[in-house]
Amino acid sequence: MSVHEERRSTASVIARPDLSQLLQSLHARGYTTIGPRLEEGAIVYGEVATVDELPVGWSDEQEGGSYRLKHRADGALFGYTVGPHSWKRFLCPPVRKLWQARKDGDGFTVEQDETPPPHYALIGVRACELRAIQILDDIYLGGSTVDTDYQRRRQAMLIVAVNCGQAGNTCFCASVHAGPHVTGGYDLALTEVIVAEDHFFVVTTGSGRGDEVLADVPHRPATSAELDMADAIVAETAHHMGRTLETAGIKALLYRHFEHPRWDEVAERCLTCGNCTMVCPTCFCFTVEDTTDLTGTVAERWRRADSCFTTAFSFITSGSQRASAKARYRQWLTHKLATWQDQFGTLGCVGCGRCITWCPVGIDLTAEVAALRAEDIGQS
Ligand code: SF4
Ligand code: SF4
Repeated sequence: MSVHEERRSTASVIARPDLSQLLQSLHARGYTTIGPRLEEGAIVYGEVATVDELPVGWSDEQEGGSYRLKHRADGALFGYTVGPHSWKRFLCPPVRKLWQARKDGDGFTVEQDETPPPHYALIGVRACELRAIQILDDIYLGGSTVDTDYQRRRQAMLIVAVNCGQAGNTCFCASVHAGPHVTGGYDLALTEVIVAEDHFFVVTTGSGRGDEVLADVPHRPATSAELDMADAIVAETAHHMGRTLETAGIKALLYRHFEHPRWDEVAERCLTCGNCTMVCPTCFCFTVEDTTDLTGTVAERWRRADSCFTTAFSFITSGSQRASAKARYRQWLTHKLATWQDQFGTLGCVGCGRCITWCPVGIDLTAEVAALRAEDIGQS
């Protein structure tokens, strides 16, 4: 029996009115529920205490440099694609104190932050975002040095995934095999189904914790027809991705065209604002900042999210090593799709499309790669 068949054989159905008990069960187990919510004209991630705080009956329209909310009539709870936030803000917060040192006679004492990690239940994690979390796991936990703060947050976290019922115009997760079907890495996974007056969630569990939570929520075994409906929704989503990215030989392609004039063309448009790195769920660069108080008694070391689009990021003694916009854009895109493979053995991109939507001038990495490919015929 394949994994998919096994999941189908154990899948359940939760009726729409009973979903609130899922959140109640999570709260009773000590979790703070974090999920999508409407804020300042976008769907972002924040604390969601009740199902009614989800963006019920809302959707979005995305294009290069454009994001708009719109109503939908069916009252769907998860009827939109990903917004400007990603889960990395809860796994590796953009600003974090690493340690502080206090003057102590002739020496000093280093004081580590012993605050227990937050217990977050992430609600509505999409397939591309699960892949992004796996990538962050490789970065922070997979090397010779483990980031213990990330590790503690990750272990305390529970994930309620959601299969995508629609693809956005800037989505291309299917091209990079990161979605839209959720295949693992979750505690519970939901597929929202709305047919006429019927509104329910097909649910599978992926861990013992997921089984325990589901046991608190009224549910029944899914019928074969309900499972077929759920599978059809995700299959349909896969066929409506707004973008595609051909990944075959992409590393060699980018290395071959390191000096291509296309980099000059994109640099003329790029504002080097760094938006693409801030919204990207896998961009993880940071800088370290030391401070002291006015009395010289306490020194602190802080970690702050940084971006390869700043000149300061590559500053080494004599100046910035990537002084031009061309050098910085090329570094970012080449890292995502080529050098990431050398570093971690995978692509650094999960096809979420955020960098396309939230780029103020609509620069699109899929178009940049396609342009290089178009002139590459016969050279591979
Ligand atoms: S590609 Fe777009 S989002 Fe990224 S730095 Fe350039 S202008 Fe900003
Ligand atoms: S590079 Fe762009 S499309 Fe790829 S994961 Fe980052 S934000 Fe998403």
